[in-house]
Amino acid sequence: MGKTRPLATLAKRFSIRTRKDNLSARVRRTLVSTLYTQPGSLAIGAFNGIASTAIAAWVSGYQILYVGCIILTVIAVARIVASLGLSPHESNTSTRKLELIYEIGAFSYAFALGGIAALTIAMQAPASVEVLMIANATCYGVGICARNAGRPTIAMGQLFLVCLPIMAAALYIGSLAFIALFVNMFLLIPAMASITMNVFKVLRDSIAAADTSARMADKMQILARTDVVTGLANRAGLNHAMVESMMDLLEDQQMVLIWIDLDRFKEVNDLLGHPIGDKVLAEVANRLREVAPEGSTVARFGGDEFVLYGPIGDRKEAERLASEIHIEIMRPLRIEGRSLDVRVSLGVALMPDDAKDIDALMQRSDLALYHAKVAGRSQTSFFNPDMTRDLVRRREIEDELRSAIMRDQLSIYFQPIIDLETGKIHTFEALVRWFHPEKGELRPDEFIPVAEETGVIVTLGNWITAQAAKACAQWPEHVSVAVNLSPMQIRAPGAALGILNALREAGLDPKRLELEVTESLFVDDNHATSAFIQELSDRGVRFALDDFGTGYSSLGYINSFPFSKIKVDRSFVSGPNVGRKTDAIIRAVAELGTQLDMEIVAEGIETIDQVHAVREAGCTLGQGYYFSRAVPDYLAAMLLAQEHEEDGPTRLQA
Ligand code: C2E
Ligand code: CA
Ligand code: CA
Repeated sequence: MGKTRPLATLAKRFSIRTRKDNLSARVRRTLVSTLYTQPGSLAIGAFNGIASTAIAAWVSGYQILYVGCIILTVIAVARIVASLGLSPHESNTSTRKLELIYEIGAFSYAFALGGIAALTIAMQAPASVEVLMIANATCYGVGICARNAGRPTIAMGQLFLVCLPIMAAALYIGSLAFIALFVNMFLLIPAMASITMNVFKVLRDSIAAADTSARMADKMQILARTDVVTGLANRAGLNHAMVESMMDLLEDQQMVLIWIDLDRFKEVNDLLGHPIGDKVLAEVANRLREVAPEGSTVARFGGDEFVLYGPIGDRKEAERLASEIHIEIMRPLRIEGRSLDVRVSLGVALMPDDAKDIDALMQRSDLALYHAKVAGRSQTSFFNPDMTRDLVRRREIEDELRSAIMRDQLSIYFQPIIDLETGKIHTFEALVRWFHPEKGELRPDEFIPVAEETGVIVTLGNWITAQAAKACAQWPEHVSVAVNLSPMQIRAPGAALGILNALREAGLDPKRLELEVTESLFVDDNHATSAFIQELSDRGVRFALDDFGTGYSSLGYINSFPFSKIKVDRSFVSGPNVGRKTDAIIRAVAELGTQLDMEIVAEGIETIDQVHAVREAGCTLGQGYYFSRAVPDYLAAMLLAQEHEEDGPTRLQA
């Protein structure tokens, strides 16, 4: 054991930890596998050793050298056979086993080679034979040190085992030349150890660095594909999953993409703060994970949008999945002691049924989601081709609406509201019209919602009020004008100022302006709304409650806001639903009007019978095609002039 002491000291000095070095398992594995790379150099080494020994035996005639030759051959063959059964690049062979097998082979070969060279010295073989074997052994020792620097213990062990017998033999002979040889070899070992260690360190560090950067890259990639708030995949993660799934998509496999959007999530954020908002998102993410079928990916698409993508049997199964998502999300949610109600809208599209590729699939389910939202939220909508047409038209409207005012494509029409007692025009309701050069006349029902969604309604609304006020200023004093206001217009900063400016510019008495608002305005109890109504009614502007009976019909706000009119929606006056019930409702509203001193307008009167019916029921004013459709300003002026001439009850016709 004493023999190995110098090696141990050396190892210590160069801080080689022979068994448990502090390399990571992966780096160590890579280093060990360098032992098995380039078997060619090993083969050359083995061939040189065996051939040189054979030649030495033949030249010197020493039989023992043939035995040495056989021993070397046996070791070389055994090493080849052993290494054939090992696969350093697969994990089924342990690193330790790989190292050990190499060690045994390497050490025994080195010792045998050194032993044979020592034998030629000890037997005082012919000088050429000695030179051949000593040179062969030392060349092998030095060469193998460089080759196996990845495992310095093995490298140095081999050099040591080659040199040791030669040094012993040199000492045994004791001649000056051999003593010099001994000293040479003695110095060779530390010199080689230092070189080997340097090579080892460079090798180890570069493998460790490569390993670290590979692991960092993996980690970064995972991070880049994950959403921090929910731990779900993000947009990049979903893209990745989609591309992967396309690679092994079976011929007739359907894929589903469900676009999930939380309803009114902005309110949660605004009212309860972002930390709670984030918790809601995380909980929704958990629930989605639970319902997601195997093999599917759930991703968060920024904000409050999620996407579920994965294989699906058929449309029926997609429907089931969508309703499961609804149920799961709607389960009451408790966050920090608060109970929250979360609702979602879903848009669904299938591939290849609805879309041929992923881009189209995304676009179509998004479109379906949009329809679910427009249709009143908290529902699921499956893609159908009509949606594309609707969207194209909507986009066109959106694009052209802004410039429509400047291009003079919009005008205001006026529909009279008749005093049912006298038959005279009481008010004109201003209704906007868009005459599009290619599309023809566009209905306000189609473009007003777009104007509301895009915010254009604020500019548009101010323009309408200004036009209406200008027209009214030309009419007799007793005729007023009614203008429809969108909730969004009212909530916009400076809304009251816009109206007052319009009045001032037209020189119209505020008393002659009536603003029609709908019940939807009062759904959210908004301070800006009451301030707006208060400010304008203080100036004399009147307010009418439009489309009464179609909305929330909570009578509370009729009391709290100064309405001068209630307009009973036309669905109570004409159309298929009219009957005893609607008649009773009109009567009740009219009664309320009398009590609260408000005028009751019946909208949508189309026949003389309806005139009688609503008058009978107690309505004081009427509006509808029976009297007149909405007409341009010059026709409105003509109607008034005509009325003035006749000065009697008139039935107006456009
Ligand atoms: P609305 O305020 O309820 O306006 C009355 C609508 O009923 C008008 O449709 C009018 O033409 C129609 N109408 C009047 N009499 C009859 C009738 O006897 N039978 C039937 N079937 N319909 C009748 P229009 O002009 O298409 O306007 C639709 C809606 O668009 C309006 O409903 C209003 O909510 C909105 N709107 C129109 N102009 C404006 C505007 O300038 N600003 C805002 N914010 N909204 C507007
Ligand atoms: Ca109206
Ligand atoms: Ca109305």
